Amino acid sequence: MSRPVDLLYVNGAQQARMELTLPPEVPYRFAALPQNDTERILEEVLVRGGGRIERGTELVGFAQDADEVRAELGLPSGARERISAGYLLGCDGAPSIVRKVLGFGFEGAALPEEYMLGDVEVDWELPPGDRPPHQGPAPGDRAPDCGGLRFDLTAFPSRLFDLLRGQEHTVLLYADHPEQLAPYGELVASARSAAHGQLDAWVIVAPHTATDGLLLPVVRDALDEFRQRYGAAGGAGFVIRPDGYLGLRSSQVSGPEVVAYLAATFRT
Ligand SMILES: Cc1cc2nc3c(=O)[nH]c(=O)nc-3n(C[C@H](O)[C@H](O)[C@H](O)COP(=O)(O)OP(=O)(O)OC[C@H]3O[C@@H](n4cnc5c(N)ncnc54)[C@H](O)[C@@H]3O)c2cc1C
Repeated sequence: MSRPVDLLYVNGAQQARMELTLPPEVPYRFAALPQNDTERILEEVLVRGGGRIERGTELVGFAQDADEVRAELGLPSGARERISAGYLLGCDGAPSIVRKVLGFGFEGAALPEEYMLGDVEVDWELPPGDRPPHQGPAPGDRAPDCGGLRFDLTAFPSRLFDLLRGQEHTVLLYADHPEQLAPYGELVASARSAAHGQLDAWVIVAPHTATDGLLLPVVRDALDEFRQRYGAAGGAGFVIRPDGYLGLRSSQVSGPEVVAYLAATFRT
């Protein structure tokens, strides 16, 4: 999957950009997680296992014999503490005192460039990545969830992920005018046939769009969340893969794209 990543803007103009492409045998996508989230998750796992982090405590030296490791710690108060343990794990990063005391080298070269790293929240008009705001997910992106979907006959709001729970591909057809609904029945039949029957289909309509006579499962985008999160316009269609990622987005779903995509996916 290819996912564009913008690297640098200067005064609102894009200066540099990099395409990150994963080979097909890599089953994952790129993910960005702030370091504080990574640390929180790791710490929670450690605590669940009965461990704890003593921040500010430093390993300043150690020695080992056949029975144990004796270590000296520098405490945040400035005091020193001596402990002994069966094992010492050196997870202390590139400058590792554990590595140095044991006499191991650290081969490689240092990059000449200098970096400054910051986690910042910026309120600005530039789009995330290189997409205009509200354009929605691109093929290969995780399909976003959204709430506020209502069946006409029940009062319960549903989440989109409730509709995507099955193991099949799912086609979502969006409409904000009754006329757009006319070809949807035939389209879904062709799409199902291309997918050898392994396809779910939902029509998602704007809050006040009439659906009289439509013989397809319909939900109403009562809070307008679907339109906003998917950047959906009337007549648009989306194919969600069983792994929850977007396979295809089509601005005019009545064209051949959706059926062709499914035919290529299910070709035997
Ligand atoms: C600017 C920058 C950006 C990076 N971006 C990415 C990225 O986007 N994706 C990615 O995968 N990798 C990235 N890396 C690389 C990644 O951060 C490292 O490969 C990774 O953190 C190494 O993990 P580690 O557990 O071995 O060491 P570290 O993460 O360095 O952890 C070592 C820990 O040991 C502690 N410690 C050190 N000495 C002592 C001591 N004497 N006593 C007690 N505690 C001690 C340190 O305080 C630290 O908490 C980046 C690195 C840098 C510098």
